[in-house]
Amino acid sequence: LKPSPSSVLAHRSLQRSLDRASSRVPDAAEKLWFIQRTLAAFERSPSSLRRTPALRVLLLRYLALEALGELSFGPRQGGVAISRPLLLCFYRLRHLAFALALAGLAFGLGAVGLYGYGLARAGTDWIFEQVALPPEPPGALAPGIFAAQPIGGKPEEVWLVERGGDEELWSNGLRVVTTFETSGDPRRYFAFPRNGSPPVPRSAPVGIVFHASESDMAPFAPAFSGEILKTTRDLIGWLARRRIYHYVIDRFGQVYRIVNDEGVAVHAGVSIWGDDEYYYLNLNESFIGVAFESRERDDSLTTAQIQSASNLTHVLRARHDIAEINCVPHGLVSVNAGKKLIGYHSDLARDFPFAALGIADNYQVPPASVSGFGFGYDEDLVARLGGALWPGVALAERALERRAAAEGMTLEGMRGRLQRRYFENAELSKLSRSAASATYRSGRGDRRPATTSPGQ
Ligand SMILES: [Zn+2]
Repeated sequence: LKPSPSSVLAHRSLQRSLDRASSRVPDAAEKLWFIQRTLAAFERSPSSLRRTPALRVLLLRYLALEALGELSFGPRQGGVAISRPLLLCFYRLRHLAFALALAGLAFGLGAVGLYGYGLARAGTDWIFEQVALPPEPPGALAPGIFAAQPIGGKPEEVWLVERGGDEELWSNGLRVVTTFETSGDPRRYFAFPRNGSPPVPRSAPVGIVFHASESDMAPFAPAFSGEILKTTRDLIGWLARRRIYHYVIDRFGQVYRIVNDEGVAVHAGVSIWGDDEYYYLNLNESFIGVAFESRERDDSLTTAQIQSASNLTHVLRARHDIAEINCVPHGLVSVNAGKKLIGYHSDLARDFPFAALGIADNYQVPPASVSGFGFGYDEDLVARLGGALWPGVALAERALERRAAAEGMTLEGMRGRLQRRYFENAELSKLSRSAASATYRSGRGDRRPATTSPGQ
């Protein structure tokens, strides 16, 4: 099917304009709606406009702006990565701007023309240029803001005492069952400096994400011992086949390794965390996943589980030089990127026994999803967490407000900017992942299909 000469697809300049505009719509379904809406409106426009080169670009930008406005301010309430007040201003003035631009083209470069010509040339590009991101001010999120005090400091030395056929013994008493162990794709990811410097490629784990397996469990009582063991082994086998989590700690405190530390496991899904220097996105590549066989809240963690988790955390931190601030429950890092909301998964987002694991209370750390990337939360999350969020969220919101005020912006405007930065960084993360799996498939490592299922 050959596109007609007056359609968008027949002209590269129009395609580029549409691409640029649609890149402001992060959600896939909304992006599709936006493109279809713009194309249909273009097809309905007078063919005299569509046939003239300067006019058709102007027309497309006008229609794209109209569709963005409708998407954002209409009943869809869609997410658009442009500051809302700015978009609203242009959306309201679009008829005037379009008329002026047309007049400018019609009268050449006269007095009206100069203004109109500028608009005609710049059009929506100009709007998008207004949302370029400033670097984060130095010191705005300095280490001092993090209320978490290192309670363990640097973990003391620990070493592998013995490796048998199906178990490892570590010098702090940790035993790791290795019968289910598999290797994962090699780690490769970007760390994004908070100061806005270019991303840094990395290949070593930088943190730990703790999960609740939220799986079926038999009552924790002597009469059910056999059933408990069988349920655990079924679960571990199921997880190992899908390479979900690096470690699982069962209710008797036995630690099973599913994927080796050097490989990628599926566990964190779409997620964000940050330490004093860097932001990390989609933590499967950068963090180690440790799951408790438990329900969502920690009141079902057993004493044996907590003791083993403490030993395992100690070994992982010592082996990989992991900072306390990067030891976090899944509920604190999981996000819904389409809706720009935190807490998509909320496992262990309250009552996590940080102190018992020898790490600082990271509930006090402002989550980077909010302070660094402008994400918000909804009432559903508050309800899921029993009426209140962890304290770091309020700290992050206040930091965001202070930053907006310091730069003379509205809070909404600041959120829009930061969300746009998130989507740019997320694109880079995707590139680093596909590059890593291409290297992997080209023969470095054992051959098997890459895991693509979402996190747990
Ligand atoms: Zn989880």
